[in-house]
Amino acid sequence: MKFCDKCGNLMNVKTEFSAKFLYCRSCGNKTRLNEKLELSDTRKIEKKEVIVVEDEKEEFPVTQILCPKCGVIRDAYWTMQQTRGGDEPPTRFYQCKECSWRWREYS
Ligand SMILES: [Zn+2]
Ligand SMILES: [Zn+2]
Repeated sequence: MKFCDKCGNLMNVKTEFSAKFLYCRSCGNKTRLNEKLELSDTRKIEKKEVIVVEDEKEEFPVTQILCPKCGVIRDAYWTMQQTRGGDEPPTRFYQCKECSWRWREYS
């Protein structure tokens, strides 16, 4: 606990833009605290976790296509499958990333 050197009242700890201040409610006296926050370390850990999740998701190729369910262009996973021998063109199967709706399209 610290007390204001101007009026002697109790100082409050205030955080602004990742910097800590001691703030006096009575007279408005404001002093910056020199102790550094451990924000940089926290950000590094968060970044690592995001990368791991992205790697696991990239199982299928992704394309932008009109989702019949959403009615707008979405990112969708797709796979191609050959049906009934080689006479017919291969069928593309899509899955919308937003709503997980599955549909097929002949190419
Ligand atoms: Zn004060
Ligand atoms: Zn959709």
